[in-house]
Amino acid sequence: MNHDQEIYNELRKNVREFVIREVEPVAMKMDSDDYFPEEVFRKMGEMGYLGITIPEEYGGSGLGYMGQAIIEEELGYSSASLALSYGAHSNLTLDNIYRNGSKEQREEYVPKLSSGKWIGSLCLTEPSSGSDALNMKTKAERKGDKFILNGSKTYITNAPYSDLFLTYARTGDSHTAFVVLSTDEGFSRGKKFNKMGMRGSPTGEVYYDSVKIDPSRIVGEENHGKDIIMSGLNSERVILSFIFTGLAKRALEESIKYSHERKQFGKSLHEFEMIQDKLATMYTEYTASRLLAYDALKKLEDDKMDPKAPAASILYSAQICEKICREAIQINGANGYMKDTGIERMLRDAILGQIGAGTTEIRKKLIAHSLIKDFLYGKGLD
Ligand SMILES: Cc1cc2nc3c(=O)[nH]c(=O)nc-3n(C[C@H](O)[C@H](O)[C@H](O)COP(=O)(O)OP(=O)(O)OC[C@H]3O[C@@H](n4cnc5c(N)ncnc54)[C@H](O)[C@@H]3O)c2cc1C
Repeated sequence: MNHDQEIYNELRKNVREFVIREVEPVAMKMDSDDYFPEEVFRKMGEMGYLGITIPEEYGGSGLGYMGQAIIEEELGYSSASLALSYGAHSNLTLDNIYRNGSKEQREEYVPKLSSGKWIGSLCLTEPSSGSDALNMKTKAERKGDKFILNGSKTYITNAPYSDLFLTYARTGDSHTAFVVLSTDEGFSRGKKFNKMGMRGSPTGEVYYDSVKIDPSRIVGEENHGKDIIMSGLNSERVILSFIFTGLAKRALEESIKYSHERKQFGKSLHEFEMIQDKLATMYTEYTASRLLAYDALKKLEDDKMDPKAPAASILYSAQICEKICREAIQINGANGYMKDTGIERMLRDAILGQIGAGTTEIRKKLIAHSLIKDFLYGKGLD
């Protein structure tokens, strides 16, 4: 075993213990009461999980995307909704600001987000632009030495709690990324949504009413926001895949356990060939989706990313997770249909996997376009 492998095994062990101690006890309440366990989230900062990809000099743990994937997978096993809030904060917002921000922005914002003192959101989606995200209406216009930001964003993870909003706005015919703070004059929050799944991961709206933004709050270069959006989506799709491999693993384990405990016709359920068929297929597809996600993760770490690998990773892990969670209910019968067992929650959570971070249809569109483009440039598959 090499040194890195030992470090990652140790991290997985620590996160697993944290999840058993802190997350399992609140996972059901998060769903039933739409409760966001703010104190657990902030503890993840103390544990070094929030800033896992951030170098130590900026208050992070310096364990890269592999570390972030491990945390997502272990959180997803217990609470996909906490894993979603973690991903929105640590990957979509914090890692994005670190990768694209200036030295001053890194010094100002990264330690606060890494420690959990601040919570962050990424604001791309608008009421009239979801899949067609670049067609946003929120705009920032230069007036004197400031930008004036007007518009709104919706379906924003963590928005009801966040202090910092990495916001994309139109600047002329281009796009620019800005840091907006909850304390900025003209910024306000709208309602918190009541969702079918991923409950406890707070989702809300935000409004910008002539918010004055200093140019020092531009992340990356003015008018180059599209590059940040696209590279951020690649990273986000890979990392969020691990929520769904973790969740699928839990659903499979709950199915194996129940098929052993539950007896019908004088036998354990797993002695019936139709149940064996289900378990074998669930295992095979879970393993395939996990391997695909780790393959995309390797490309992300090596910075060899085109849109195909991340889109394929989350496309497949989300579809397989949803299928496995559905089968888990079937194997559990009425037991799986009851709220108290937590099995039906898994399916409701899994469904978000085909909507967030670009829908299944958009992922397929990206993969197909990328394949055709490679073909036209004479580039074969890896
Ligand atoms: C729980 C949750 C958390 C979220 N968190 C965030 C967040 O933190 N930040 C953020 O910016 N956004 C967030 N989103 C928004 C999410 O990214 C969008 O919901 C997603 O991109 C899809 O947009 P839409 O819902 O407007 O669907 P639409 O774009 O309206 O699409 C509706 C349907 O039409 C299909 N469709 C659209 N265009 C095409 C096409 N060209 N070809 C074929 N089919 C098509 C879609 O696949 C979908 O099935 C979140 C959403 C949810 C539900």
